[in-house]
Amino acid sequence: ANFMRVIVQREQEPSISSGKEDSSTKIGVELLCVVKEVLKKIKRRVLVGDKVVVGTIDWVARRGMIENVFQRSSEILDPPVANVDHLLVLFSMEQPMIEPFMLTRFLVEAESTGIPLTLALNKLELVDEETLVAWKNRLQSWGYEPLFCSVETKHGLDSLAFYLRDQTSVIVGPSGVGKSSLINVLRSYLRASDALEGDNWFDPILGSKWFEDQRVGEVSTRSGRGKHTTRHVSLLPLSGGGYLADTPGFNQPSLMKVTKQSLAQAFPEIRKMLKDSEPVKCSFNDCLHLGEPGCIVKSDWERYSYYFQLLDEIRIREEFQLRTF
Ligand code: GDP
Ligand code: ZN
Repeated sequence: ANFMRVIVQREQEPSISSGKEDSSTKIGVELLCVVKEVLKKIKRRVLVGDKVVVGTIDWVARRGMIENVFQRSSEILDPPVANVDHLLVLFSMEQPMIEPFMLTRFLVEAESTGIPLTLALNKLELVDEETLVAWKNRLQSWGYEPLFCSVETKHGLDSLAFYLRDQTSVIVGPSGVGKSSLINVLRSYLRASDALEGDNWFDPILGSKWFEDQRVGEVSTRSGRGKHTTRHVSLLPLSGGGYLADTPGFNQPSLMKVTKQSLAQAFPEIRKMLKDSEPVKCSFNDCLHLGEPGCIVKSDWERYSYYFQLLDEIRIREEFQLRTF
């Protein structure tokens, strides 16, 4: 059967049958749940990270049934996770080295979800100071403040953990940059904390108590089923609070949710130019910033050609969709 693990954080209707048992003892209890048939019928898919209503609870056997799903604040499909509030875009300085257009595709895909993102660059120990400074300046000119780290030497992992705390994060990036390695490092901290006494344990890296904060009836794991493959996704509780998906995502940014009109918003450079010129706007409401008369977006920035290139790609896709459907 298809069970999902749900962590209880709040009881909707406190039990009145016995005054002995404090309802707070149920907080943090893990229930194995099935999904109510009617939800499947109306194709309400339950994702990892969903906040759900659980009924028909057997507290002794720790079983229950998911009866409804709360509205999501966000949803990503690769990996399938709901209520993600932070994307960690991970690339590496070397092996493989940063390919600017590829990085732009990942950043655009991440920006298009509307979820706040952090850009981190791994394998720092493979490059010299000069290379680091050059990339830092370059990425700042794109509008990003990159974090540098090395899973190998552990450099920068504490500040990375700081960015991950109290949020549900997914690591995205191309293959080979160290996503799985990073998840494993964070997972091993989790296991280490497990072996110690929960409440007194203090994580030297995350600087917070283990398992401090659990969420309301959250699906912490499930057997995710993609269109073609069966994939397991779960959320690892981090010792600083917050969760990290154990499956990295966006293996190939498809940019399917990006439209010609929305692309500009995925470039911090354009966002800044539009904001700086307020209240003056481009003459045309639907300006694509390609040199139209009265356009306030300049062309003297590094990624302008990438913007142009992606716009073209999206234009071709949109035309193709118009013809096909
Ligand atoms: P993924 O495809 O993004 O999940 O990348 P992996 O986690 O599988 O890592 C790819 C390779 O990079 C593995 O051989 C790792 O050991 C290596 N790797 C990960 N982090 C670092 C690092 O900080 N420095 C170096 N030199 N290698 C690393
Ligand atoms: Zn314009």
